[in-house]
Amino acid sequence: MPSADVIITNAKVFTSDESSPYAEAVAVKGNRIVYVGTDEGAESFKDKSTRVIDGQGHTLTPGFIDTHVHLLWGSIWMGSAQLQEVRTKEDLKNVLTDFANKNKTDQWIVGRGIRYSIVSTRQELDEINEDRPIYIGAFDGHTGWANTKALEMAGILQDDKREMANGIIVRDENGFATGELREGDAMRAVMDLAPVPDSNRKRELLKLAIEKFNATGITSVHNMNGDMEELMAYAALEDSGEMNLRVYVPYHVKPEATEEMLTEAGEMAKVQMDYVRGGAAKFFMDGVWESYTAFNVHPYADDPDVKVEPIFSLEHFTRMASLCDKMGLQVAVHCCGDGAVRQALDGYEAIQKINGRRDSRHRVEHIEVCQPEDMPRFKELGVIASMQTSHAPFSLEEDLVWTKRTGPQRWPISFPWRDLKNAGAHLSLGSDWTVAPFDPMINIYVALNRKKYAPSDPDQRLTLEECILGYTRDAAYVEFMEHEKGQIKEGYLADLVLFSHDLFEVNPEEITTAKAVMTMVDGRIVFE
Ligand SMILES: [Zn+2]
Repeated sequence: MPSADVIITNAKVFTSDESSPYAEAVAVKGNRIVYVGTDEGAESFKDKSTRVIDGQGHTLTPGFIDTHVHLLWGSIWMGSAQLQEVRTKEDLKNVLTDFANKNKTDQWIVGRGIRYSIVSTRQELDEINEDRPIYIGAFDGHTGWANTKALEMAGILQDDKREMANGIIVRDENGFATGELREGDAMRAVMDLAPVPDSNRKRELLKLAIEKFNATGITSVHNMNGDMEELMAYAALEDSGEMNLRVYVPYHVKPEATEEMLTEAGEMAKVQMDYVRGGAAKFFMDGVWESYTAFNVHPYADDPDVKVEPIFSLEHFTRMASLCDKMGLQVAVHCCGDGAVRQALDGYEAIQKINGRRDSRHRVEHIEVCQPEDMPRFKELGVIASMQTSHAPFSLEEDLVWTKRTGPQRWPISFPWRDLKNAGAHLSLGSDWTVAPFDPMINIYVALNRKKYAPSDPDQRLTLEECILGYTRDAAYVEFMEHEKGQIKEGYLADLVLFSHDLFEVNPEEITTAKAVMTMVDGRIVFE
């Protein structure tokens, strides 16, 4: 009998393993699970050097896998003014002024995470500070606002007729930028001028973010954008033995990308370390409902005149994604609008005809609205629904622009977790941090408790069991790692999380009172 390094006893083990869903004890040797069963059975793995952790009757699950985050971006965000809690112009002024005073030597004032409809013009930001350039980004990363100084520095205050593949500089009737910048290229015109932290500072911020992920029970993430440089930043942490999070990094295929540029995605796929792996390509089919950039089937409820073009035409997407598919890469596409979801599915269908069907596990990210006739196509095509429950407005009372843009006609098919699951879609869960908080309990809270927007809407909520599976077993499947992690099973990687409660005994409305108390990655306790 091998002696274990760690034994966790007296726990309510939820294994995510269908053949044996519950247990009391788990034994770990090195980086693997060597035993799952009863307290008594675990005894025989004990010797004098074994550490025994009393689970106190609380839930132990496989480590959580967040299938959609922006880790390095997010880490860098953490070095700027945090605007998530800002609700009024006054709040914004206070936070930015405070940040400016604390960072006197920085020329720029950069803030992140603001909600929509708090500011919309450069003049409002000029009132906060007109001498230093200001750039603030929306919580979803799809819109930014800049003051006059920043727009001048970027050379875009007055109409310069520049072409943008993916971006809109909103202008007034005289051709002056209003301060609102929609989507990547427009935001980057300003944002890229603000100095980025140097590589040492980046590394520190990244380690700090990983520590915070571990503290909520997250042991793996899918970093839903990236390139070789970003992959190498993670790999450097693994090389120096400082990596405490498994990171799967797709290559971001931008609309202007050439076919030759996909070679980088192929090179990334060759990186298969213990913690850091490539193997996928990420596309954006559209933007977001909030900024009228979601590609929809029917007109916007609050402005029927808005016409949106997808970022990739069907032909363009199919051509680029089929090349990725041919290279054996997994493809993931950001789709918030129902038109985008449909076009991604059309593309995947076309790719199967071009390259033949294989175990590709291509995925659609977000799926904020999905037409009923498209729901069964996920199962038919073997496409994964990767969803982030905190994106859904919790209730109509929140009075978010999202529910206004979509309108009551679409609410029954909005964030359709239950309907997609019923239609046989493989569902995985995540946060889309920094768009939403990464703490799984916050995302699970929304999944368990979200209110209907209209009384006649179907109930789209998930059960706690489905949430845990969506964050563990079903998330591991999404990255082709279902035989290595995502379940508490003998021989599997020892990625585990022990909670402060028996989660199944907690009132769903109070689920956020439960916290991770011990997180293990690769057999090492990284948080306690
Ligand atoms: Zn995202």
